[in-house]
Amino acid sequence: MRSVALSPQARADALAAMAGTELDVLVIGGGVVGAGSALDAATRGLTVGLVEARDFASGTSSRSSKLIHGGLRYLEMLDFRLVAEALQERGLLIQTIAPHLVRPVPFIYPLQHRVWERFYAGAGVALYDTLGLLSGRARGVPHHTHLTRSGAKRIMPSLRKDALVGALQYYDAQVDDARHTMFVARTAAAYGAHVASRARVVGLLREGERVTGAEVLDLESGETFKVRAKQVVNATGVWTDDTQGLVGERGQFKVRASKGIHLVVPRDRIQGDSGLILRTEKSVLFVIPWFRHWIIGTTDTDWSLDKAHPAASAADIDYLLDHVNAVLEQPLTHADVEGVYAGLRPLLSGESESTSKLSREHAVAHPVPGLVVVAGGKYTTYRVMAKDAVD
Ligand SMILES: Cc1cc2nc3c(=O)[nH]c(=O)nc-3n(C[C@H](O)[C@H](O)[C@H](O)COP(=O)(O)OP(=O)(O)OC[C@H]3O[C@@H](n4cnc5c(N)ncnc54)[C@H](O)[C@@H]3O)c2cc1C
Repeated sequence: MRSVALSPQARADALAAMAGTELDVLVIGGGVVGAGSALDAATRGLTVGLVEARDFASGTSSRSSKLIHGGLRYLEMLDFRLVAEALQERGLLIQTIAPHLVRPVPFIYPLQHRVWERFYAGAGVALYDTLGLLSGRARGVPHHTHLTRSGAKRIMPSLRKDALVGALQYYDAQVDDARHTMFVARTAAAYGAHVASRARVVGLLREGERVTGAEVLDLESGETFKVRAKQVVNATGVWTDDTQGLVGERGQFKVRASKGIHLVVPRDRIQGDSGLILRTEKSVLFVIPWFRHWIIGTTDTDWSLDKAHPAASAADIDYLLDHVNAVLEQPLTHADVEGVYAGLRPLLSGESESTSKLSREHAVAHPVPGLVVVAGGKYTTYRVMAKDAVD
């Protein structure tokens, strides 16, 4: 495999190559799912193009909680298959695919009730660890442990004494999401994919019913050109309904945007060596160690404004501060918040009105010949989504 830089020259070469040939596969969208689809297709020996309207990972794929996880809370929804699949991906990412970017991270789960909660939550994390093993791969993270209150306080001195009667500590993994997505796109380029950022699909080419490529606007030159492809993969996350609108057909599923925000707080504001997972009335909240900072998130509310610029509201910020302060000895204030970022989850429109109850499963559809749509899922399972789309 040759090493390829995603340079201006490489971009110009990729655009010229895409304009001058019929590709096997053109992927729209340079988030983790589109980059993953381009890599999957290129490593199967197909000729591939990947066009991203802004920058790689500029959409949801740079705004996540940066966890590579099975999703402990999906166990409560009895979604064992989904959890096992994600844990298999977690093991693969830590040990084989990206050990330089994905690493284990511990989490403390404070217990508030003495007997039944230790039994209930303990059974949950034991099952979580076991599903990680049953996936047929080494877990890649240590086994969970039970902690007394003072044991938990030794690891997280900032925890308020009356906020817990004991705790569990389990492991998941974390990733630099934007950097990882960029590397997936770059690896696809190294396997021969023509990869271009700042290249927006503004129309789809049709021959009768069939989609035969796309009309692409080069946002650097302002020129529009045609890219012909035997198959077009629409991997545009929360923009799926807009890009599907270019076909002029009703999609087989709809994707709606659910906003989640994170606070970025200096590391010295919370003393401790472990992440925290806290239950909230709607879902869970993570306090995640991130180099010299903590990332605290997330929320779950509908968003119908500009998808390119989701923003946090004062209510979102207060919600996170209130919940994390409930367990901290020294409460955080607005002055401790050094940064805030917001992202939009691409959720398949489902039966439930409450977005946090929707499982994060993905879907692949083939609405017309020549066009494949892939959406939903979560960062952790991008490789499965990519494979399903290319299959
Ligand atoms: C707050 C939050 C926390 C999350 N935390 C986690 C987590 O910890 N772990 C986890 O596994 N998952 C997590 N997720 C989910 C995960 O981040 C997403 O499922 C994943 O990043 C979606 O990737 P994507 O490629 O489908 O979408 P995106 O990353 O949004 O990519 C779509 C791309 O398509 C491009 N595009 C749109 N229209 C066009 C066009 N016309 N032409 C060309 N390009 C176009 C966009 O610019 C964009 O870059 C989280 C999500 C949110 C919002």
